[in-house]
Amino acid sequence: MTTRAAFVELFRERGRELWAVGGALRDELLGRGGVDEDFATDALPDEVEAIGRELGASLVTVGKRFGTIGVLLDGRWSEITTFRGDSYEAGTRWPDVTFGTSIEEDLARRDFTVNALAREATRGDGNILDLFGGRDDLAARVVRAVGEPERRFREDPLRILRGLRFSAQLGFEIEPATLEGMRVTAPLLASLSQERVTTELDKILQAPFAGEGLERIREIGALGVILPELAPMVGCEQNSFHQFDVWGHTVATVQAVRKEGPDGRARAWAALLHDLGKPYVRHMKTNGEWGFYRHDAVGAEMAPVLLERLRLARKEIHLVTLLVRRHMDRPKPEDRRSVRRFLSKVGGHWEDLLALKRADNASHTYDDEGYHAALEAACRRAVSEDSEALRAESPLTGDDLVAMFDREPGPWIRVVKDRLSAMVLDGELAPGDREHARRIARGIMKGR
Ligand code: ATP
Ligand code: MG
Repeated sequence: MTTRAAFVELFRERGRELWAVGGALRDELLGRGGVDEDFATDALPDEVEAIGRELGASLVTVGKRFGTIGVLLDGRWSEITTFRGDSYEAGTRWPDVTFGTSIEEDLARRDFTVNALAREATRGDGNILDLFGGRDDLAARVVRAVGEPERRFREDPLRILRGLRFSAQLGFEIEPATLEGMRVTAPLLASLSQERVTTELDKILQAPFAGEGLERIREIGALGVILPELAPMVGCEQNSFHQFDVWGHTVATVQAVRKEGPDGRARAWAALLHDLGKPYVRHMKTNGEWGFYRHDAVGAEMAPVLLERLRLARKEIHLVTLLVRRHMDRPKPEDRRSVRRFLSKVGGHWEDLLALKRADNASHTYDDEGYHAALEAACRRAVSEDSEALRAESPLTGDDLVAMFDREPGPWIRVVKDRLSAMVLDGELAPGDREHARRIARGIMKGR
């Protein structure tokens, strides 16, 4: 395994600079290490590659054209990127890469002050180069553009979403002039590729302060650009069961939903879209309250169209749509058949749906936790009964029995298997005990 120390040493011997930069340094200074490292260097990509080969390191060279070589150091992937020079042209999607000559020039190209810190690794003195006040902003917990915000966002509008994403991930405020720059340039988000937008949206939804991130998206006027289907939620007033309009309720639901488990990503998207249909079906009921009849069904029709545009994976779209469609389901926990019907509709995703229902309730004016706890217990019971019944299968199959008794298959097989299953269920026969099962089967056949 190639060590980071050996790699750094070779750069030092060759008189090259190697600066730790980017998210890893930022997160280390925040006391939350553990992410893959990025380095900036004055060595050209060919030389970085040669140094890696000399040490026999595992390398990734797909990004070489853009100045980046991936190197496995201490078992972790690090990206080594040659200094950037002035390269972005306003409005171009793929900036031409030109290499710079100094770390100062490189750092000036970076997006936010907290991402524009650097520490020289070959010198090993631990000094941090901080040209834009990044350390003060880390301490004050502020996202601030490097240089003139509006110009920087025009150069690359993705920075707008990156800024909102860092704020949602780190719980940082956005510095007022930076926020204003985002507001002025938000229409340019339309020029980005859908994949890049979706990647950042996804990270915002997963972030600890996802609700704040969504509010900022609305605040800078980006909602109508990147999620136009959601725009009518803003100002869509609800009835007395709700504290907020549909948008405020949606933001609270995304913030509240527990995103753990393999389907955490789908849960976050379902929270965002669960009331998508509401503004489109709202009507005044005879009692003078707003009604939202069938908003779950309408939302479930709209969600897959939206998510396909966003290029989510098919499986994920399917699950999100299921959760949107079923979020109003209210089976009776004390009624076995009602619980079973519910389970068969949600196909193994009852925990995801329950997480959504709980989050949905978080900004209602009534507390439904008693109901949710009862439903959770009922679902857990039904699922464990099923798995017991599954385990209660006869240790011998029909084929086993046909071979054993050398008889034509017929109704006798069902009789023997049912008896064996019943004994497993009653605990008189161990589920996998084929020997014992054979003896019992012989006894049954003799008595017939
Ligand atoms: P994380 O890896 O946690 O998402 P990061 O800050 O490391 O965060 P990366 O996308 O890995 O983000 O980029 C590494 C660094 O490259 C950033 O910290 C920033 O300095 C710079 N950078 C990345 N994208 C841009 C951009 N669009 N404009 C300017 N600088 C950028
Ligand atoms: Mg990174």
